[in-house]
Amino acid sequence: RTPDMECALLVLGAGPGGYTAAFRAADLGLDVVLVERYASLGGVCLNVGCIPSKALLHTAEVIAEAEAMAAHGVSFGTPRLDLDKLRAFKDGVVGKLTGGLAGMAKQRKVRVLQGVGMFVAPHELDVQTDAGVKRVRFAQAIIAAGSQALKLPGFPWDDARVMDSTDALALADMPKSLLVVGGGIIGLEMACVYAALGSAVTVVELAEQLMPGCDADLVKPLQQRLGKRLAGIHLQTKVARATAQKDGIHVVFEGASKPARDVFDRVLVAVGRVPNGKRIGAEAAGIAVDARGYIAVDAQMRSNVPHIFAIGDIVGNPMLAHKATHEAKLAAEVAAGEKREWLARVIPSVAYTDPEIAWVGVSEREAKEKGLAIEVARFPWAASGRALGMDRSEGFSKLIFDAQTRRVVGGGIVGVHAGDLIAEVALAIEMGAEAADIGHTIHPHPTLSETVAMAAEIMDGSITDLI
Ligand code: FAD
Repeated sequence: RTPDMECALLVLGAGPGGYTAAFRAADLGLDVVLVERYASLGGVCLNVGCIPSKALLHTAEVIAEAEAMAAHGVSFGTPRLDLDKLRAFKDGVVGKLTGGLAGMAKQRKVRVLQGVGMFVAPHELDVQTDAGVKRVRFAQAIIAAGSQALKLPGFPWDDARVMDSTDALALADMPKSLLVVGGGIIGLEMACVYAALGSAVTVVELAEQLMPGCDADLVKPLQQRLGKRLAGIHLQTKVARATAQKDGIHVVFEGASKPARDVFDRVLVAVGRVPNGKRIGAEAAGIAVDARGYIAVDAQMRSNVPHIFAIGDIVGNPMLAHKATHEAKLAAEVAAGEKREWLARVIPSVAYTDPEIAWVGVSEREAKEKGLAIEVARFPWAASGRALGMDRSEGFSKLIFDAQTRRVVGGGIVGVHAGDLIAEVALAIEMGAEAADIGHTIHPHPTLSETVAMAAEIMDGSITDLI
């Protein structure tokens, strides 16, 4: 059949990877068609990920801070929750951003085609739209079809009380009791939100620590604080079975410690995400997809089919929006004929929990596993005037150095605003900075950013005594 549309570049999926690639390519002069199954652009991140979760976490933080003010002699009383208003605020934030994207697409003359896309040939994609199937012929393509929540078997998924992160962000109601299965970033962020809004939240995690993969020392202050705010945290524990009954979701646990309760009003399953590689007809275009659904790419984001690129969650971990956008610009520039390749050394990770945990580059865990010679400097926030003034001195900042070159190779921060503070450490690593470079940079006083400089000064030997 003859194609309904033709373009120089087809982008499949309009998440942070897809819209960034489409816009960059259009700015570089390519004629772009952007295919997205949902009416709203922005993908998981803007619609059901980063942005709505952070809007709700802000509310959770304010509630927690207001409670803490009682110890400073100021009481606000018990918060009264209007869930409809809170939901409307969150949806408003999402709407502003996704609406902005639609305008930006229009401005750049990116043609947006709404429907589910499936490759049918190396240069053709069929899109199932409301007005029937449209065939798009393209010279080059960028796949940015993202990922979706892993629906762990053994849960009654047909019952609305069993939720994935998208359902949890919808805030249908405020359950009296919530079980969060999975103590990773997404599970713990949602645990913070629901606990602040009044749910009794229990977390179960299979691994021996929360936030598996992250250095244990960074997790400790979070675990201590959550221990006080949640109904229970159970490590090395899993759900053996869950059944939907009238009075709630009945759960049978297995493992090191068992939660006090075994019937929950709602259950959030947050045990990871699976890439959408197996759902796009990749084989028809000859694109290699591995058993888990990932598409392998080279340093220019090209798949095994040279005119088809892939970016974002669908090419692998870490599944983070800022990784997707970085890859998107690269793929778009290469598609437009520029000679570029992946040059970033590190990708920061942040858990926007309370307190936040942020880390970048080599971790102590990784150094140990790989036998790397490192040195570590830690600055406790108990010695930061700003942290004390905020009554949040539980955090610390640490920098990790290569023992030979003395350069910063990693860092981790736990504490309020850790996510904002980690950017400096990422910059230091990218710039090949040594401890003295950070230590000699004048940081404003009194700020939390000084804690990073202090860690550098400890390493540099300019501070030996921490007050
Ligand atoms: P996606 O955002 O998944 O976009 C893919 C798009 O492709 C979707 O819109 C989908 O509808 C579309 N699509 C897929 N298949 C087809 C098809 N066949 N036809 C048409 N369209 C299709 N990351 C961070 O960096 N910071 C955070 O704070 C953060 N918080 C998160 C919180 C939650 C609850 C979740 C779930 C994720 C969070 N993430 C966060 C991860 C982040 O959302 C993803 O890494 C990011 O969205 C990946 O971008 P992407 O462009 O690869 O794919």
